[in-house]
Amino acid sequence: MMDSKDGNFIAKGLEISGIVQGVGFRPFVYRLAGRFNLKGEIANTSSGVSAHIEGTQSDVDAFLTDLKEKGPPLARITDIMVKAEPFRDLEEFVIAKSRSRKYGSTLISPDVSICDDCLRELLSPRNRRYRYPFINCTNCGPRYTIIDNIPYDRPNTSMKHFQMCESCQAEYDDPANRRFHAQPNACFDCGPRISLHDSVWKEMDTPDPISQTAALLRQGYILAIKSLGGFHLAVDAENSKAVVRLRKRKHREEKPLAIMSYDLKKIQEYAHMDQEEEKILTSPQRPIVILKKREPNSISGEVSPRNNYFGVMLPYTPLHYLILGHGFTALVMTSGNISEEPIAVDNDDAFKRLSSIADYFLIHDRDIYLRSDDSIIKRTAGVIQPIRRSRGYVPAPILLKDRIPRILACGAELKNTICLTKGNKAFLSQHLGDLENLSTFEFFQRTIDHMKRILGIEPEIIACDLHPDYLSTRYALEQDDVKKIQVQHHHAHIAGCMAENGLDGDVIGLSFDGAGYGPDGTVWGGEILVAEEGKVLHRATISQVPMPGSGAAIREPWRMAVSYLYDTFGDEIWNLNIPFMKELDKEKARVVIEMMRKGINSPLTSSLGRLFDGVAAIAGIRNHVYFEGQAAMDLEMMAAENIEEFYDYEWSSEGLYRVMVQIVIAGVVKDMKKGVKPQIISAKFHTTIIKMFSHLCEIIRTESGLNRVALSGGSFQNSILLWGFIKDLEGKGFEVYSHRLVPTNDGGICLGQAVVAAYSAS
Ligand code: ZN
Ligand code: ZN
Ligand code: FE
Repeated sequence: MMDSKDGNFIAKGLEISGIVQGVGFRPFVYRLAGRFNLKGEIANTSSGVSAHIEGTQSDVDAFLTDLKEKGPPLARITDIMVKAEPFRDLEEFVIAKSRSRKYGSTLISPDVSICDDCLRELLSPRNRRYRYPFINCTNCGPRYTIIDNIPYDRPNTSMKHFQMCESCQAEYDDPANRRFHAQPNACFDCGPRISLHDSVWKEMDTPDPISQTAALLRQGYILAIKSLGGFHLAVDAENSKAVVRLRKRKHREEKPLAIMSYDLKKIQEYAHMDQEEEKILTSPQRPIVILKKREPNSISGEVSPRNNYFGVMLPYTPLHYLILGHGFTALVMTSGNISEEPIAVDNDDAFKRLSSIADYFLIHDRDIYLRSDDSIIKRTAGVIQPIRRSRGYVPAPILLKDRIPRILACGAELKNTICLTKGNKAFLSQHLGDLENLSTFEFFQRTIDHMKRILGIEPEIIACDLHPDYLSTRYALEQDDVKKIQVQHHHAHIAGCMAENGLDGDVIGLSFDGAGYGPDGTVWGGEILVAEEGKVLHRATISQVPMPGSGAAIREPWRMAVSYLYDTFGDEIWNLNIPFMKELDKEKARVVIEMMRKGINSPLTSSLGRLFDGVAAIAGIRNHVYFEGQAAMDLEMMAAENIEEFYDYEWSSEGLYRVMVQIVIAGVVKDMKKGVKPQIISAKFHTTIIKMFSHLCEIIRTESGLNRVALSGGSFQNSILLWGFIKDLEGKGFEVYSHRLVPTNDGGICLGQAVVAAYSAS
């Protein structure tokens, strides 16, 4: 017992907010208090955790330091308030009952990969959960995908169907246990189970479904496997026949397929990685990381054709470890859907939708309430870029520099995500997909309702794109009793980049992508803006050309090639002595030129993405694509290194700088006539874009005095462009900002929409 008369003893009250519930925070504090001989109590409150501690000054100080620095892996403290409290001379430290049932502003943890402790138990024959596919604890396991409502308690999760056995309950009730209040706690006796089914849903009679699954994969079968945020379709990545069959059945022609390996050593066999990439691969988020291929390698050439990279991840559920433990170099683990539909999550739904693809189904009976795709990260020259921010990251908030109103931002169309804001936090949803079909649109609506419920946010403002035909715009404009703000696409890109970098005031923004609706109704995508959150000025653009056939011009880059060539050479186009013209279907080309002349279904565009497509086609690389941006990606992949040359460029200026694209196209054609290799042409073209736009940045700096440049838009997924611009602009003394927290593509644009709406409204 402490002596209250001894002046060395002090008492403090703590209010801690952030992700501090359901992540083992109270047991951590309990143990920490024990270590420093502190007495007092801790409880969950509506806004986080509140504690009272008593002890010597030095013990309290040491406790506070460790509290901030040594928290459990999933906890994320956003704020600690410490105040002096009366000394009560308490005799022990206790975990008190929760003070309120309204958990309004606590944060919900993302789903987390299996932790090291659970993995050790999973693989140790003497543990009672040896090889149990759903082992978890307060440091790991499902969260976001199994929560239906708040507070985060078992009855509000899909674990409500499982009654804990005595042993599990004892762990759950013991503050010193790693599974104290671990909501998904379970074991063989009381928890979820797996079962293996054939393609007509008949359960297979096998004592060991996992070994059977591994054997089937070995034989080249396609398995649908229920994971954490949805179904995967799996095949042995070294078996080309199996990979080809999967591609055919899934209608996925050439887009790279993600693969999963047991550990870093296995990945080392077929891909290069550095320490940073290893760190991302092994992080609790366990995203897919884009890694440079090691040549030669044993992975089927069909996994990532015509691409220098593999998308690789480590196992993140106990089930993955048990399957991969059967000696595979890698398994293809691609999302369980047909082409662009949302991934399947329910067993019945999966059987219905995937039975034409999968030969067998490895399923379980723990429901997934909210699907969440695997996240994708790419590291380019020191910049960590999320390509897709989803499982493992959602719904952890992006912190904003100011408090803003409650806003729902609906995103754009492709790679859609939505954003809800509250105070200084922006919550982005998981990847929802391309809003082009009814099933994705339903998923979009369901996710909005779900997130509003679990985050307790009722928006005052709805933000959306300017494009009148996007389903996300239509949804936004149909909502009643709420203020609506439409945000220009490229302004939103730049504002998003500013928001995640905490920037204030005007910046020069390079906003480069495939397509975004301009205020004049044309298709923008190669723009320099001078922007702050609430205001924007258009400063430079690429001279516009028609997109003959609109959507068809995206799927068929040869149409863009004809458009640029006709724009540059007029009727001389027929006399151009280059392979592209020789191989061109003249009849089709004439129809396309007629369309452009008459302005039929040929919207004008200044898109950099389309320019890449056009140049790829002119250079003979690709006339048709299987997914948006494929031609541009091919052009990037083949670029020769260490080429200093670039094409001539020029612009006109009448207030707005207009890059004359004809001069660049003429340069490319001249090289083609000379028989210059496409590798060289690609490199020169990349350098031209970098030189030209960074030159324009210098001019705009002189005019405006602005020295900060924000890079945003899907084109910055191109590593040569991203790295090239950073190097060139920093070399000229600019401060350069790019995306690190949300995708630079339209998957991050909802953040910018929210921020623009917040500042336009005030
Ligand atoms: Zn664990
Ligand atoms: Zn149990
Ligand atoms: Fe965009």
